[in-house]
Amino acid sequence: MDTILVVNAGSSSVKFQIFAVDGDGRLTRQIKGQMDGIGSRPRLRASGADGEPLADRAYPIERVADVPAALEVAGGWLRDELRISPIAVGHRVVHGGPEYERPVRIDHGVVARLEKFVQLAPLHQPHNLAPIRTLLANRPDLPQVACFDTAFHRTHGALADHYAVPFHLYAEGVRRYGFHGLSYEYVAKTLRQVAPEIAEGRVIVAHLGSGASMCALKEGCSVESTMGFTALDGLPMGTRPGQIDPGVVLYLISEKGMSASDVQNFLYRDCGLKGLSGVSNDMRELEASDDPHAILAIEYFVHRIGLNAGMLAAALQGIDAFVFTAGIGENSANIRGRIGEKLSWLGVELDAAENARHARLISRPDSRIPVYVVPTDEELMIAQHTLSLLMNSELSGPKRERVS
Ligand code: ADP
Repeated sequence: MDTILVVNAGSSSVKFQIFAVDGDGRLTRQIKGQMDGIGSRPRLRASGADGEPLADRAYPIERVADVPAALEVAGGWLRDELRISPIAVGHRVVHGGPEYERPVRIDHGVVARLEKFVQLAPLHQPHNLAPIRTLLANRPDLPQVACFDTAFHRTHGALADHYAVPFHLYAEGVRRYGFHGLSYEYVAKTLRQVAPEIAEGRVIVAHLGSGASMCALKEGCSVESTMGFTALDGLPMGTRPGQIDPGVVLYLISEKGMSASDVQNFLYRDCGLKGLSGVSNDMRELEASDDPHAILAIEYFVHRIGLNAGMLAAALQGIDAFVFTAGIGENSANIRGRIGEKLSWLGVELDAAENARHARLISRPDSRIPVYVVPTDEELMIAQHTLSLLMNSELSGPKRERVS
């Protein structure tokens, strides 16, 4: 049986999934796993298609000291114990820079180009690239594909792509890239099946997970997003503040004596729901808490989503549907209900019972704007891209990848 390995490598964990490919090119998820605690307390956990546990084992720190070692150990487990040897590997790569507007088959030239974007995403890009480099060196025969979080937003026009800064900064890459693109692409694709007439219209998608952003879709293409140069901008998130006056950053530097890396750590790890509540970055814990700061953090989250929905509705000049996705968007009827109230001026009326049972369509039949819940699947999107690039290159033989 042919399989595709999907890899999402972060600084301290590597998540992976195995998809089986049938004769018609259909993909079925078989295994979900992750190696956590890289360089501290490495632990491999994996489960099968129905959630049945397949592995839960700890490793000595020296065996899994870095991301490439984590992938090697997980790959060894798949190969030696489950007899799985993938025909290709699809990687989630956070930054495709201004160049890549679609996934790309990886070779040394592509890796060299992607290295240039490390400075644009220093916390993620190096970890995404590390296992790619190792596999290129050790398994040059194994096709690898890079799928970017930024690529889906390359349809943005100039106004959505710029900051009001001198042009030379734009030319060197200071642009509003937008992220969560694989999630939005999956939602746009699914919407075409669920509600084809709406998918061709103006849709706001709210990806509300530990990272959170919103995207304005027109005819299935991204025209605006709340995230910009980095994944810090826009909505408040689990540990990131979302939109913040750059003056606050200047204050932290000049009055608090913080260095660039202090500020970076602060903005990525200590702000957002966690910072504002002082309770937790996890929405479930905030919802269960009666601490006034936890209540404020939830109200702030909902408020900012309402404001940003107004901004995106203006970008689209009206909306035809609203979609919730990701951890909070898919699972919290309470947050969806509260956001629904904020959007009532746009014509949103949620159906409380349908919302409570996490139905696909959660608005009332007479709601002017239909509201959907579409569970996202970024890994399936990566597997689909990987398979389709593999099939294309098999059909057309070796060729240079197009970079646009
Ligand atoms: P990521 O992939 O960015 O880590 P997810 O999309 O998995 O994030 O979302 C994780 C977040 O979803 C968690 O922080 C948690 O707050 C939230 N979440 C998950 N399930 C629920 C739930 N039942 N109710 C409220 N929030 C939830």
